[in-house]
Amino acid sequence: MAGLRRLSYFLLTGFATVVLIIIARTVMLSYQQTAAAPCKPSDLDYIHADDAVRKRFQTAITFETVSYDIGNYNREELYKFLQFILKEFSDVFSHPLVEYKVIANYSLLVSIKGSDTSLKPYLIASHFDVVPATNESWEVPPFEGRVQDGYFWGRGTLDVKNGVMGSLEALQFLLKQGHQPQRSFFLAFGHDEEVQGIDGAQQIAAYLKSQGVQLEFLIDEGTVIVKDAIPGMRIPFALIGVAEKGFIMVELSVHTSAGHSSMPPKETCIGIMSNAVAKLEACPMPVVFDSSGPVREMFESFAPQVPVYLRVIMANLWLFSPIFIRILEMKPSTNASFELQPLSLSSTRAKRQTSSLPRRGLQLTIEYTPVIRLKRF
Ligand SMILES: [Zn+2]
Repeated sequence: MAGLRRLSYFLLTGFATVVLIIIARTVMLSYQQTAAAPCKPSDLDYIHADDAVRKRFQTAITFETVSYDIGNYNREELYKFLQFILKEFSDVFSHPLVEYKVIANYSLLVSIKGSDTSLKPYLIASHFDVVPATNESWEVPPFEGRVQDGYFWGRGTLDVKNGVMGSLEALQFLLKQGHQPQRSFFLAFGHDEEVQGIDGAQQIAAYLKSQGVQLEFLIDEGTVIVKDAIPGMRIPFALIGVAEKGFIMVELSVHTSAGHSSMPPKETCIGIMSNAVAKLEACPMPVVFDSSGPVREMFESFAPQVPVYLRVIMANLWLFSPIFIRILEMKPSTNASFELQPLSLSSTRAKRQTSSLPRRGLQLTIEYTPVIRLKRF
């Protein structure tokens, strides 16, 4: 009897301690937003978007630097775009602190010499290829460079000729003012990022490696500012991507004997393939949610901004991760953004090779998105 009482006492004390920790963490997490001063036209480093700057950006959008597939991109337009920036920013490229190198015919690596060469350089990356866009599927022509309702419209305005042109405008602006950075840095602009960057980014990396360059850090194009991504989240927030998912392509093919639609066999290769795909879709890989690294820190910093029920969960991911994962899984966007599904069927392309009943030859290319765990760095 005494043993049972002691057990209940321990259980009760343990439960009360857990509840206390949950309450304390929920109450103590404070809003950590650091106030960033808005930039003003009177700031010394304020770049006025004058006619010349606007015109340059509009013109950049007009080049149809489209990537279609690995090794298949609009070489002519890429070449023209490269010539365009070399000419438009000729002051930059002829500056004594600047060296540049065209890599793999179309990509560009620019190095800017800092005053303290003992510091490791950093690198800012962008790309100037874009994914295809047709007039029919756009409200405005995607390569016209139109300004409408106070916005630039066109393919590449956000992904990511804005990064290319913005970096160059900023560099030009600072060099004109006689500024020399303390730390050297690189601008690296790839030409086939949308199709894996094998010819561009990979060659730039190989070149830097061959030169023995070691970087302090690298900044690539970022993710977006999201609203309403998490239930009850009252403020928009900017996601800082600290890792990127890769993917593998898997090709499934079915081989069956020949047939005719007037005498259909019990199973056609379409049926077999569909079955396989349905089974794959029904069996996603186990969820991976690393609640110990930057992902946890991010959600903890959101905690004061969400409704109380969610605040309790976010402030105590050490305990409530399984529940939180269910919440994130409710939306494809949060499901994908916070590395939940290591493998997911993300797209399919089917090729049927015969006219009547498909025989040898239903092929399906499936992209899988494996996830990498985020590590504190
Ligand atoms: Zn991009």
